[in-house]
Amino acid sequence: MRLLVVEDEIRLARALRRGLAADGFVVDIAVTGPAGLAAARDGSYDALLLDVMLPQMSGYDVVRTLRAEENHVPVLILSAKDGVHDQADGLDLGADDYLVKPVSYVLLLARLRAVLRRPRESRPPILSWGDVQLDPATHEVTMGAEPVALTPREYALLEYLLRHPDRVVTKIELLDHVWDLGDRDSNTVEVYVGYLRRKLGPDLVETVRGAGYRLGSTAAFGG
Ligand code: CA
Repeated sequence: MRLLVVEDEIRLARALRRGLAADGFVVDIAVTGPAGLAAARDGSYDALLLDVMLPQMSGYDVVRTLRAEENHVPVLILSAKDGVHDQADGLDLGADDYLVKPVSYVLLLARLRAVLRRPRESRPPILSWGDVQLDPATHEVTMGAEPVALTPREYALLEYLLRHPDRVVTKIELLDHVWDLGDRDSNTVEVYVGYLRRKLGPDLVETVRGAGYRLGSTAAFGG
């Protein structure tokens, strides 16, 4: 699950990213209204966490613009404005939920999950490879109907591979999408691919020498 945090308080944005990454989300940050809008337009985000008081363009204007463009990405507004009219305005403009700062992380996560669970046309489909299934809405991974316990990073790596089944993904691409800027060691990717193979079978991921990785053929499973 990819999230976009639009928040100009950089310490809060980073704290949110740390927490959410530990729960298996991949999180990008934008620090102005226009940057958030641009990222939301062309990013394939599963949800936005959107501040209201932002440089250059308010969060309200961001959500209003997205909805006018028929973009229905789930939006949770995080705002220090706790007036009922502010909250009503946010929801009327098309936000899916409104949380008042300071936000309890536990509550934010629960609200986020609730929004992601809601039936909607864009509800993410189950991703699968052979008898391995990953449900992006619940973060559950099963193999032959048995639950498989993955760490948040293993989960994010598997999800990325399952979302790009028909091509080679490079190590750089995986570092960009699955790892934070801090730990960009390409050996890390190899190590985690190894963990996934151990848990889900050696054929899950093929190494394409000099290029990257590709999901293995599922021919052995009959497609
Ligand atoms: Ca702000």
